[in-house]
Amino acid sequence: MNKTYYEILGLKSDCSIAEIKKAYREKIVSTHPDKSRDLIQNVDGQLTVDDIQEAYKTLGNEQLRLQYDKQILEGHKKRGYHNSGDGLDEYSLDKFFFSAATMEYSMDCPRCHSKDGFHFSEEALEEHAEEKPCGFQVLSQCSACSLWLKVNFDVAEE
Ligand SMILES: [Zn+2]
Repeated sequence: MNKTYYEILGLKSDCSIAEIKKAYREKIVSTHPDKSRDLIQNVDGQLTVDDIQEAYKTLGNEQLRLQYDKQILEGHKKRGYHNSGDGLDEYSLDKFFFSAATMEYSMDCPRCHSKDGFHFSEEALEEHAEEKPCGFQVLSQCSACSLWLKVNFDVAEE
């Protein structure tokens, strides 16, 4: 079992700091009902208070969280996070509208025409990107009709 800190806290990678704090409190209470210092495993037998505290220490700190997100991205690139995208339509990220205000990409769904059916944050994009011979690729799903697309993009060299 190699859960990410987000999975440990049961959060999405684009969650807010308030959600992180709330999830942490809830997890600590459910994992550690008697507030003793002993390590007590919760029902799935995997998480310890240490796991939860470690996850919170990183995700609760803006700097550490940014670094951690990068680590996850690197890990996914190496492992090939998604490999089940065969046969899906491919779209360029250029087709998406990027809002600098929300840091989100969006596109109307080509199948059901739902307005902004496809949308994801820059963070989510980076987290799930898979490296391809000619750039990066991420799978995205329409929130209205559940159509999956491959989205291709390049990452600017740093
Ligand atoms: Zn759709």
